[in-house]
Amino acid sequence: MEAIAYSKLLNNRLSPITESGKTTGFVPTMGALHEGHASLIRKSVSENDVTIASIFVNPAQFNEKGDLDNYPRMPIEDHNLLVMNKCDFVFEPSIEEMYPGKVEVLDLDLGVLSKVMEGKYRPGHFEGMITIVYKLLKLTNPTRAYFGEKDFQQLAIIRFMVKKMGLKVGIIGCPTIREADGLAMSSRNIRLNPEERAEAPVIFGSMRKFAVRSSSDSIDAIRKKVIESIEKTRLFRVEYFEIVEAETLQPVSDWMERKELRACIAVKASHTRLIDNISVD
Ligand code: AMP
Repeated sequence: MEAIAYSKLLNNRLSPITESGKTTGFVPTMGALHEGHASLIRKSVSENDVTIASIFVNPAQFNEKGDLDNYPRMPIEDHNLLVMNKCDFVFEPSIEEMYPGKVEVLDLDLGVLSKVMEGKYRPGHFEGMITIVYKLLKLTNPTRAYFGEKDFQQLAIIRFMVKKMGLKVGIIGCPTIREADGLAMSSRNIRLNPEERAEAPVIFGSMRKFAVRSSSDSIDAIRKKVIESIEKTRLFRVEYFEIVEAETLQPVSDWMERKELRACIAVKASHTRLIDNISVD
């Protein structure tokens, strides 16, 4: 695997590959890699001739400075995981490389997609995220790019951006990889204290138990049950729990909705914030 820090060098390496008609797969990450990231790399390797990962902790998408400063960084372990999974290139630019001058966000109205859930609780987050994803897709110009369903709203917004900006890249959504006890893998899980880590499976567990379309409960009643079962641990506070239409991300209030629905949640622990989602079908 070759590690590259400069856009120009990346372009020098990738242009001949693309021009020769080979397919390329791209997996953008913020590092502190785990099995969730590895699953995206493996999928890309199985579907493309060449796989490129990026590691860049994007300051523009952090709405809290403390969260940015405390974001876990483990470059050596990250390289090992990428090599083990047969990644060909890793792009690790500096902040100056990605944002020469001042940070300017992509001029694209995300509309209602960015007004709900994460968009509501993390103002500016999606504008920053979409800016870096756009820049990285322009730079790498991949055949396909791989994203986790773990960040369900992010995936929907990326699909929207790619369509609006007319990018010719296949966006591939990949299933959430979980720990054996059901907790969705996340770089932020290492910021849970031991007590929180032990109780954290309640987040997925309560959604799986209550957030099912075949339930005779109303959506409001389900919300109450999910929140109650998570908050009774006294370790977590639920920021939101919504059942949303999968494409538009708009919350639904009854089961009459025939479209694909998704239950989405954000939970605060003492030093971190976790998100998860499941299909209700
Ligand atoms: P991050 O490094 O957190 O920005 O994530 C990089 C990519 O990995 C994003 O597309 C995430 O959705 C994806 N990802 C993170 N955690 C998981 C997981 N547990 N399962 C599958 N994909 C994941």
